[in-house]
Amino acid sequence: MPIALITGGSRGIGKATALLLAQQGLRVVVNYHRDRQAAQEVVEEITRAGGEALAWQADVSDEQQVVTMFTAIDEAWGPVNVLVNNAGILATQCRVENLTAERINRVLSTNVTGYFLCCREAVKRMSIEHGGSGGAIVNVSSVAARLGSPGEYVDYAASKGAVDTLTIGLSLEVAAQGIRVNGVRPGFIYTEMHASGGEPGRVDRVAPAIPMRRGGQPEEVAQAIAWLVSDSASYVTGSFIDLAGGK
Ligand code: NDP
Repeated sequence: MPIALITGGSRGIGKATALLLAQQGLRVVVNYHRDRQAAQEVVEEITRAGGEALAWQADVSDEQQVVTMFTAIDEAWGPVNVLVNNAGILATQCRVENLTAERINRVLSTNVTGYFLCCREAVKRMSIEHGGSGGAIVNVSSVAARLGSPGEYVDYAASKGAVDTLTIGLSLEVAAQGIRVNGVRPGFIYTEMHASGGEPGRVDRVAPAIPMRRGGQPEEVAQAIAWLVSDSASYVTGSFIDLAGGK
């Protein structure tokens, strides 16, 4: 049974992805940072439905914690076959002239360094060259990578630009190793992230400016991720799916 690690799998897009992949027969590791109870609830929901899941606490921006998480998965179930890099933070709305180095580093360390570290550990295990059997990685980016989030979250948008470039570069680097690397770019999705960014009603506020006139649901993003990691996407690498209602 393939093993999938979903970083930030306890809420929002990560949770919807964990539930869907478990439904499709994958063993799922639900990584979380602070909210143990939320992660445990996802595991229980999967288990009740007959699936297999475990929760693992790790700050993805912390190298040692990431290494420990991958080693623990090796020992519990074996090497991961699927990685969904999803754990991300937004920080509060802020114009460029007010950005601090502390905040920039915080956003980049979770949204970029965290993705790099998890990719590194996954590639070591998936690579045919290293005795692995290949695998699939999906990096959750954002339409902010091309829209820039002016006046609100330019640092966040730049972090997602880095995720896109990581996805392209890594997909080329590991294509011959049996590893596919793709990205999804959600638009405005109804999750708690917007409240953590200081504006709980943000999706409804921007909805009139979205061509489809509505925000998206986490499950709509999860469907694309599940397709990209499945065998149906066996010839797809270095690609992106935008889930943004036309934005
Ligand atoms: P949520 O805020 O709803 O959930 C974030 C998840 O990430 C939680 O499980 C949280 O765990 C986890 N997390 C945060 N920091 C860390 C960390 N350092 N280490 C490990 N886990 C961490 O976010 P969304 O579901 O909205 O977003 C998921 C991804 O989708 C992000 O990468 C985001 O940038 C991207 N995205 C979201 C959009 C949206 O409109 N919602 C739009 C475009 C992209 P815990 O609760 O335990 O801290």
